[in-house]
Amino acid sequence: MIKPSFKRNWNGVPIIKDKEIDVIVEQIITQYNPKLLTNPQAIDIDDFALYYLNLKQDFKFLSHCGCIWGMMVFNDTRKVPVYNPELELAEYIEAEEGTIIIDNTLLDDSTEYRYRSTMAHECGHWIFHKDMFIVNEMQSSLFDEPRELAIACRSKDIEGQSGRRLVTTNDWIEHHAKYFSAALLMPKSLMEIACHEAKQNGLVTTNEALIRYISRIFEVSPTSARIRIQQLGLGISNVAVMNRNLFNWNDLPSRFELIEDF
Ligand SMILES: [Zn+2]
Repeated sequence: MIKPSFKRNWNGVPIIKDKEIDVIVEQIITQYNPKLLTNPQAIDIDDFALYYLNLKQDFKFLSHCGCIWGMMVFNDTRKVPVYNPELELAEYIEAEEGTIIIDNTLLDDSTEYRYRSTMAHECGHWIFHKDMFIVNEMQSSLFDEPRELAIACRSKDIEGQSGRRLVTTNDWIEHHAKYFSAALLMPKSLMEIACHEAKQNGLVTTNEALIRYISRIFEVSPTSARIRIQQLGLGISNVAVMNRNLFNWNDLPSRFELIEDF
């Protein structure tokens, strides 16, 4: 398993750009199963998490309202808070280090979009953040303060575009995991191939059609597909970006502008 290295800030949060996450993810996929990068397709997220990262999995109700979709447990603990719907009470359960706990409500989703995004998101926490949370015996004797044992991830952390500024430690680690999830489910190089082919072959003529096409190929929600297309600048109005190598930029009129949004 590739162990990416990166700088960290004073409290151990990785300092890593989105573009670097794209590169790291493709290195990881190359080691996991290089055939996946040969043509656009959906990754088997269970196989990746359970057999490549050697993580464990459990299913519980993580809240009374279904707003917490997943949890990454970094240390053996008896204190994972879950919701017991029969008693209508919160309670603690045991969980082992390296366990992804998925909220039971995600199993109601026949498309598995939320399930796949959540699994990939928790894998991102494991790869980028476990060193911040894992407690070893040496550290236990050095740190008086109890350290967090798990991260609970809300729906807004996993899907959709928050648009807010990243300020706190939590903002940054959730952003890393959200971006990792998109990059794993829709790798940059495959997105470029898929969008280019769809446009080139006339399979799609609108951004809505492109979103549906990407959603189908990679088994992600239309919302996730739209955000990823925007992130990578692969929408219909960005054809000029795709072909930028064909232009001599010095020949373009000075007021030429690329439309980045759609
Ligand atoms: Zn998270």
